[in-house]
Amino acid sequence: MTTTINLQVKSQYHEQYKNGYPLISQESIDNLQNIEEGTIVNLLDSHKKFIAKGYFGKQNKGFGWVLSDKKDEIFDKEFFVAKIKSAIEYRKEFFDDTQTTAFRVFNGPGDGVGGLTIDYFDGYYLLTWYSLGIYTFKDAIIEALKQSVDYKGIYQKRRFASNGQYLESDKDFVSGEVAPEPLLVKENGVNFAIYLDDGPMVGIFLDQKEVRKTIRDKYAKGKTVLNTFSYTGAFSVYASLGGAFKTTSVDLANRSLAKTKEQFSVNGINPDNENIIVKDVFEYFKLAIKQKLLFDIVVVDPPSFARSKKHTFSVSKDYVKLLKEIIQITNKGGVIVASTNYANFNLAKFRDFIDKAFRESKSQYKIEKTFSLPKDFRVSDKFREDNYLKVVFIRKIK
Ligand code: SAH
Repeated sequence: MTTTINLQVKSQYHEQYKNGYPLISQESIDNLQNIEEGTIVNLLDSHKKFIAKGYFGKQNKGFGWVLSDKKDEIFDKEFFVAKIKSAIEYRKEFFDDTQTTAFRVFNGPGDGVGGLTIDYFDGYYLLTWYSLGIYTFKDAIIEALKQSVDYKGIYQKRRFASNGQYLESDKDFVSGEVAPEPLLVKENGVNFAIYLDDGPMVGIFLDQKEVRKTIRDKYAKGKTVLNTFSYTGAFSVYASLGGAFKTTSVDLANRSLAKTKEQFSVNGINPDNENIIVKDVFEYFKLAIKQKLLFDIVVVDPPSFARSKKHTFSVSKDYVKLLKEIIQITNKGGVIVASTNYANFNLAKFRDFIDKAFRESKSQYKIEKTFSLPKDFRVSDKFREDNYLKVVFIRKIK
């Protein structure tokens, strides 16, 4: 039986929760200690009047999520069925698109349940749980999903080991059919080899699909393309399919070599004609600058934090430096596709970084395009800060 407790919201935060803000933050409530994960919490104002209810679940963003403004709401299977059905309705046309068979079906607070996302991979559903708190509702949520969709199989990632890390377990498989390995999905007609049960990541980040498509359709033709922090090479594959002269992919992780080759191969591209380099990008820049290499397009999509043997990288501290190195190896008239998924600064700040990097490089630029999250990564207008993605296409003029 789930327990319920009352939490008194500090007065300066009443308005925000009354207006539907979903994140239960540490600073808005006095006694958030020693609450058991998954506990139902009622948020009350100073007169002990009910404002909203949700659950307690620690994750990097906060301490839980508001799920309802109705005092007598029960978070049972029916509750989650309604949320999932409305999420599916919002994405109806995605299910009919034969060219894109991988997308997000449920995006946390954007679809009314913070702490949970669900991705669709050609009939398979992948749930990601971001706190032990939301995971305590798993039986109701999985039943609700089963009742709401036709599925081949259901998988899960539990991202609530310390610091929001992936919890290693024997299996991420939950129910239904076991997916083939790899599972082939499509995005904008491009093939991707996906592994649903091979560690924290499946092989593709679904939030960049519009950026990848733009590179393929509008930028790549005849160009030399450098893809830094390339992971499985998704940007390189799109560039190559768009007619790039040659792609170079650089990632530190050993696994990136085989994975990138595989993504090229499943698209009928011979990986031997492309350059795939396993290296720290900062080491690669030194080499490229020394050799006076110049690229027409450089994609930079780093993790928010990364530690390698020689460097610690943090987006908020080091993006300007990173861009300055890239400016040096970008052709005049070339394009830098600069991306960040760091939620703690906004587009304006990101543009300041870009401006600073070009000023300090005594170079000039023009911003041609800006992207944030695609439609399936639904963001609630009560929680705009959830739109973490910022991608800017920057033309280097001189
Ligand atoms: N751009 C990718 C996703 C990047 S994920 C895509 O579109 O799919 C971040 C990647 O950065 C990881 O694969 C990680 O191995 C790599 N990485 C982290 N630090 C690095 C460094 N110093 N040099 C090169 N790669 C790094």
